[in-house]
Formats: sequence, structure tokens, C-alpha cells
Amino acid sequence: MSDLDYLCPQCRTTLAAVARGDFDTWECKDGHGVGITLTEAYGHFQEDEIRAIWQAAKSAPQSSLKSPVLGQPMVAVTVAVDDDEVEGNQAGGSHLVTLDVAPAEQFLWFHVVDFEAMPADLPNPAPSAEELAKLEQIRAQSREAVAADAKRQESPESDFGYRFGSKAAALLNLTGFMKKLGAVAGKPLERR
Ligand SMILES: [Zn+2]
Repeated sequence: MSDLDYLCPQCRTTLAAVARGDFDTWECKDGHGVGITLTEAYGHFQEDEIRAIWQAAKSAPQSSLKSPVLGQPMVAVTVAVDDDEVEGNQAGGSHLVTLDVAPAEQFLWFHVVDFEAMPADLPNPAPSAEELAKLEQIRAQSREAVAADAKRQESPESDFGYRFGSKAAALLNLTGFMKKLGAVAGKPLERR
């Protein structure tokens, strides 16, 4: 899938690219966790949940885990996830999920149990015009980041206020975006 090595935030072995349904994940062979990129999250989680995770990441405490590409400290984020798929479930069904986030790499890392508990089967696979516009923005930023990375260390901030930390991270997010866009437009996937 990629010539980039993502390392397990816990044990630093190379993560394997695993497809869980239509979810492209990065997983540790020893079961330490399940990782996804931000663009992959956009395709599967509700936008308000992603926003909540990203917002919390800005002030979250450092965790003991290291980011998969750069080996920087990750942050531990706890958010409430609303499992609102069951109609008439007035009790809410909201539960807390703790995950590790590598903001610069736009990478989310879950315990396997927590990942499987995420309400991933949300009913609207077709993104709104607003979401498409946001994805277009991410794509443009990824391109800028890749171009900028070739020239200098600095790269532009994403709309979440974090820089793309590396060409690797930007490429991973761009790849996820292109796949999503291809699926949305009903066009063949663009392959690198
Ligand atoms: Zn591991």
C-alpha cells in the first residue's frame, strides 16, 4: 500500500496495513492498537466527533506513547462518543473513549476494544458539500505540505491549527483523501 513505515506507538514494530471493512487501518501485530489517519477518520466518524477529538488534543496531556512516523510524544485524549444509531434510545448511549493522537502526523491510535466500540456504522456514507469542501481543503494543504517539505522544514498549518509534521504524514492523508474522493465521485481510484 505504501512504502512508508508506520511504527507501533507502543513497541515500535512496523504497523501492518489492515482493511477492516472499508476502513484502512494501521495495526500492531501484537495487538497494541489500531491506527487511522485523519482523512480516514473523516470518511467513517461523524464530523463533530473528529472535531471534539482534535480540539481536545490541543490541550491534552502527553501520553507515554510515541508517534508512528516521527517518534514524538503523543497526547492522550478522552472524548464522549454518542452512539446514536439505535432509534428511540433516549438514554443516550454515550460512552467515553480514550485514544492517543499524534497531531503533527494527523494520526489517531485506539485500543482495539475502543476502536471496535466506535460508532463506525453511521448511516451517511455520502459526504455533504461542506465535507467535500473540507476534504478539498485538506487535499490542497497536503499538496502544499509536500511541496513545502521539499524546499524547507516549515509547512503550512492545517485547518485544525496543526502543521503537517512531515512529507510522510501529508502523503498518507492525501492518499486517503484521493481514495475517498474517487469513491464519492464514482470514478476509478487514482493510484500512486
Ligand atoms: Zn505494538
